[in-house]
Amino acid sequence: MIQFDEALQAILEQTQPLNVIQRPLKECLGYTIAEPVIAMYDHPFFNNSAMDGYGVKSEDIENASKDSPVLLTIKETIQAGDYSETELTSNSAVKLFTGAPTPPGVNAVVMKEFCTEKEGRVLIHRPAKINENIRFQGEEFQKGQTVIAQGTTITPPVVGFLANLGSDQVKVYRKPKVSLLVTGNELIAPGRPLQPGQIYDSNSYALTAALNEMGINPVPVFYTKDDQAETRQKLNLALADQDVVITLGGISVGDYDFVKEVVEAEGVETVFWRIAIKPGKPVYFGRQQQGGKNQLIFGLPGNPVSALVTFHQLIRPALLNMMGIPPHFSIQKTTAQLETPLKKRAGRLEFVRGICTADQKAPSVRSTQGQSSHMLSGLTTANCLIHFPEEQTTLNPGDPVMIEPLHWR
Ligand code: AMP
Ligand code: MG
Repeated sequence: MIQFDEALQAILEQTQPLNVIQRPLKECLGYTIAEPVIAMYDHPFFNNSAMDGYGVKSEDIENASKDSPVLLTIKETIQAGDYSETELTSNSAVKLFTGAPTPPGVNAVVMKEFCTEKEGRVLIHRPAKINENIRFQGEEFQKGQTVIAQGTTITPPVVGFLANLGSDQVKVYRKPKVSLLVTGNELIAPGRPLQPGQIYDSNSYALTAALNEMGINPVPVFYTKDDQAETRQKLNLALADQDVVITLGGISVGDYDFVKEVVEAEGVETVFWRIAIKPGKPVYFGRQQQGGKNQLIFGLPGNPVSALVTFHQLIRPALLNMMGIPPHFSIQKTTAQLETPLKKRAGRLEFVRGICTADQKAPSVRSTQGQSSHMLSGLTTANCLIHFPEEQTTLNPGDPVMIEPLHWR
């Protein structure tokens, strides 16, 4: 049995960003930028008006006021999308709309609200500072500048920004292909009536959802009875062309737990089996090289809480690492003040499902109802995991504890 930190370290050592691919911008959400993005243009592209109003020479309206407005002749009207190179001369104005390019000679734009237009002329009721309401070419960034760093996650604003730059193809890290192998004679799919002894398979649903949340889609799911030959056959199907296979159930020490045996018989090299954590002690991790591809095999216990908690704690950081998001971004810990007492036996690090509230001065956390590893309800209300250290047996209200937010993305 190894420690949690060692297990996570061993997993991360086996993972690295996958190859770089080019994807259409519209299909990039959630991917990670693999190469710095360089601006091909200045931004803004050209000097333009920030307001609906009148482009002027600031010096012409220096003394304008409500009581003695300055009268200027409107020389032209420029809409967004138009373009004019006609230089503005003294004592004249150009009518501009937001986004319209400012022609040469204009050094300020007066908002429409401070102007009165009449028969081709405009009365300006107040002065304008030089550069007022003009958005200047290159003021945000200039051609040749790095504007998005490698490693940036593509969120909706990043999609917008890339479009803004004129990019319709983006270099990103490939996402891992992940399949599931679900074991258990007792399992049936939800939606059907249960026969005596049967339970609904929740793990393949929960894990598929967790993978989908990370943008990993589709997730092929294979099912096997607790039978060695079938486990072997389905494992081979699950392994085909995948980067990662997650098996569910059958990884503990029971007479009908065949996963480890079968995986090893298929040539997978075991990195570790069993971690000093709760839930999730039986977790297995192995690797194999096939067709030049490094394949990772995770064996998770079947208890639904164990499966999801260990996925979150061990597999999610590995998958994110493969997607180009390093662990120091994906693993976040903070401290909170414990509200409820906690007890356990020494020997294993326990991930207690918690609800953290940060509306007071310092964040505080309480444990959820239903802490057994078959009780999924607790995890549905939890927003964090409380780390109950290995050798500690009691934690009291008021104690500072380390918590880890539950992020499924
Ligand atoms: P195992 O790890 O196979 O020994 O299973 C541990 C417990 O989790 C048993 O009570 C199983 O019935 C239950 N279990 C296993 N697989 C699933 C599953 N896919 N969905 C829900 N419960 C499961
Ligand atoms: Mg089982």
